Amino acid sequence: MIPYGRQDISQEDIDAVTTVLKSDYLTQGPTVPLFEKTVSNYCGVKYAVAVNSATSALHIACLALGVGKGDIVWTSAITFVASANCALYCGATVDFVDIDARTYNMSLDCLEAKLIDAEKNAKLPKVVIPVHLCGQPCDMEKIYQLSLRFGFKIIEDASHAIGSKYKGEPVGKCTYSDITVFSFHPVKIITTGEGGIAVTNDEQLAKHMGLLRSHGIVNNKYEMQSRPANEIWNYQQIDLGFNYRMSDIQAILGVSQMKRLNEFVARRQAIANRYDRELQGLYITTPWQLEDSTSAYHLYPIRNKNHSQGSSQRHVYLGLQANGINANIHYIPVYRQPYYEAMGFNPGHCPEAELYYRETLSLPIYPKLSDEEQTKVIESLRIIYS
Ligand SMILES: *Cc1c(COP(=O)(O)O)cnc(C)c1O
Repeated sequence: MIPYGRQDISQEDIDAVTTVLKSDYLTQGPTVPLFEKTVSNYCGVKYAVAVNSATSALHIACLALGVGKGDIVWTSAITFVASANCALYCGATVDFVDIDARTYNMSLDCLEAKLIDAEKNAKLPKVVIPVHLCGQPCDMEKIYQLSLRFGFKIIEDASHAIGSKYKGEPVGKCTYSDITVFSFHPVKIITTGEGGIAVTNDEQLAKHMGLLRSHGIVNNKYEMQSRPANEIWNYQQIDLGFNYRMSDIQAILGVSQMKRLNEFVARRQAIANRYDRELQGLYITTPWQLEDSTSAYHLYPIRNKNHSQGSSQRHVYLGLQANGINANIHYIPVYRQPYYEAMGFNPGHCPEAELYYRETLSLPIYPKLSDEEQTKVIESLRIIYS
C-alpha cells in the first residue's frame, strides 16, 4: 500500500540516536536545549519549549495564556481534534469558525462576522487558534489585526507547517501571534517519534510553559521561594505542572531531521507541483496557493467535484484502494465527532466545512514517495475519473 504520508529516517538519523543512547543522559540532558535552539534559530523566534507532543504544547500554550474555566477558545472547524481539545483540558468552552472555500483555512470573513456577533453578546474568545491546514499559512496579519480590535490572543497550530513561509518569513517567527506550535509525529514534516514544540517571542510565556512542562518544578535558587537558610532542598514545586518533557533520544532525532527540513519541503513541493500539473482536466479541484506564502505541503488534498452517483468521494477512495493507494480524509469537522455532538453541536454548524469533508481526499505526499509511485496515483485517478 502507498500511504498518504510517512517518515523518512536516514542512517545519519539512526547514528545520531545511537550516540545519545550511549551517552549519560537519555532525558533532561543537553540535547533538548540543542533541539530547541535549532528550531528557534530556523524560525527566527526567541524562545522554544520542546515537549512530548503538539497536543501537550497546545495545552500548556493555552494555560500560559491564562485560559481557564469560563473562557472561550475558537479554532477552525477543519482540523485535528487536538486543536480544540486543548481548550477543554483547561476547563474552557470551545467553538468553531467555518473554513474558506479556497484556502481551507479558517475563513477571515466568518471570523470577523462571528467576532462582531460575539462582542454584542459579550462572548468574545480569549484565544483564537488558527490552523495552517496542509501547510498552507493562514493570513496571520489579518488575524492579528482582528486580535487588536477584539482583544484575543493567538496560538498558531502549525502542526502541518514547519518549513512553510508566510510573506517570506518562516512560520513560527510569531510576528503575528503569541505562540506557535509544531508537531513531530512521524506523519508530519519532520519527526521525533512523538514530540512537539511551542515557540514564542515572549519571555514570560516561555518561562511559564517551561514550568508547566515539568511538574511546575524549579531548581535554580533564584526562582525558588525563600526558605530557612539551613534547608538543603534542591528543587521546589511552585505551580501545578505535568510531565510533558521530550527525551534527549527524541530531541537528537529532531536535531538530525532538521538538517534535512529544507530538502524535505522541496521534495514535497515538487510532488505537489506535479500533481497540480498532471491532474488538470479531471473533475477535481487541486489546492490553491496563497500569494506571498509557500506551503510545506504536509497534505495534498483534492476535492472531488463530481457528485453524481458513480463518482462520489467514496468511489474515488475505493478506486484508489483497489490500486494499492491509501488516500485519507483530513478531516471530519471536529464538532461532528461524537464527543462534540454530545456537547450540543449540530451537523451543519459550519456549512463550508461540511462540504469540504464530503469532497476532499488527501493524496500520498512524502519525501520518499517515488516518481513511479506518484505516476501510479495519477494514472489511477485518470482511470477513476475517465
Ligand atoms: C498532528 C496534529 C496535532 C497533534 O499533534 P501531536 O504531536 O500528535 O500531539 C495537532 N493539530 C494538528 C492540526 C495536527 O495535525
